[in-house]
Amino acid sequence: VACIFCEIVAGRVPSQSVYHSEDVTAFRDIDPKAPTHILIVPNRHIAFLADVKSSDGELLARIVEVANDLARQEGIAQSGYRLVVNSGPDAGQTVAHLHVHLLGGRPMTWPPG
Ligand code: 5GP
Ligand code: ZN
Repeated sequence: VACIFCEIVAGRVPSQSVYHSEDVTAFRDIDPKAPTHILIVPNRHIAFLADVKSSDGELLARIVEVANDLARQEGIAQSGYRLVVNSGPDAGQTVAHLHVHLLGGRPMTWPPG
């Protein structure tokens, strides 16, 4: 398998794991852009946001739920946080396994760069 996030989900590539269940895994970004920078991924390989179907709804809701729980654990739930999905080259997507960035712990600018 050539997918680095599938390898992390399977535990074959090490990561700073912060959550793992049968459907969702979360781990710290290797190159953090904020004091809290966690990636939340479906364990099942979905390459792109564009591949998401309504039948994936429960899985997406689980990802958001995990992100919200992690934000509380990180102590950033009150100050605020941002969930980001980069889709395609112009957005800067570099890993073709759907992942939601949880960013927080500092004020953020809008719009994103
Ligand atoms: P994208 O640019 O595709 O939205 O985000 C990919 C993210 O994955 C980047 O923020 C990058 O730092 C992170 N990343 C890439 N490879 C690895 C890895 O092997 N381990 C971890 N923990 N993060 C990674
Ligand atoms: Zn994958």
